[in-house]
Amino acid sequence: MDIVILLGAPGSGKGTIAGRLASANANLKHVSSGDLLRGAVAKGTPAGLEAKGYVDKGNLVPDALIAAMIKDVIAETTGDVTMLLDGFPRNVAQAEVLEKTGAPIRSAVLVDVPDSIIADRIAGRRTCPKCKAGYHVKALPPKVEGICDRCGAELVVRRDDNPETVRDRLVVYHRETEPLIAFYEKKGILRRIDGDQGPEKNAAAFLAAM
Ligand code: AMP
Repeated sequence: MDIVILLGAPGSGKGTIAGRLASANANLKHVSSGDLLRGAVAKGTPAGLEAKGYVDKGNLVPDALIAAMIKDVIAETTGDVTMLLDGFPRNVAQAEVLEKTGAPIRSAVLVDVPDSIIADRIAGRRTCPKCKAGYHVKALPPKVEGICDRCGAELVVRRDDNPETVRDRLVVYHRETEPLIAFYEKKGILRRIDGDQGPEKNAAAFLAAM
C-alpha cells in the first residue's frame, strides 16, 4: 500500500478526480476525509456529534478526531493498493501525523484552480449522499436531473456549499492548508496539475502526475 495525497482548494475537483480514477482502477482506493466526517455526522456517532459544528461552519475539526479516522483506514488497507487521500492532511500538524504512521507517501499532487472560479463551481455542485459521486449542474450533469447515474439516489447540495461558508472554507484553505505545498515541495514529492481542463482531462493529468 502507498499513498497519493490530493492537495487543492475546496471545489478544485479533488473528489471528482479521485472518484473517477478509483472507479476505473481496482488498485486505487479513494479516501475522502470529508466523506468520512459526513458519514459520522449522519450516523450520529460520538465523533460525528463532535465534528458537526465545525463541518457546518467550514472550520477544520480537531486534528486528533480526523487523524484517528484516517489511521483506522490506513490500518485496514493492505495489498497492492494506492490510496488517493483527499482532504487529509489539511495542515502541517496532520501531515506530521501522517508521516508518523509510516505509510509510504508516493507523491502529493496539487490540483491548481484559481479562487475566482471556485465559487461558480461550488454553486453548481451536487453530491450523491449514498455512493458519494459528485456532479455539476453544467460541467458534469447527471443523465436524469437530480438523480445519481451510479446508484439512482436523489442528489443533494452539501450543507456547507453555501456562499458564506465557501468563503470561510477558502480562507481556512489559504491559511492552514496552502503551507503544505511548500512542505511537500521540500520533500521533493510535490506535483502540480491544471485543474481547469474539464473532468476527464483533469483525471488523466492527475494519473500521469501521481
Ligand atoms: P471536504 O469534503 O474535504 O470539503 O471537507 C468538508 C469539511 O470537513 C471541511 O470543511 C472540514 O470542516 C472537515 N474536514 C475534512 N477534512 C478535514 C481535515 N483533514 N481536518 C479537519 N477538518 C476536516
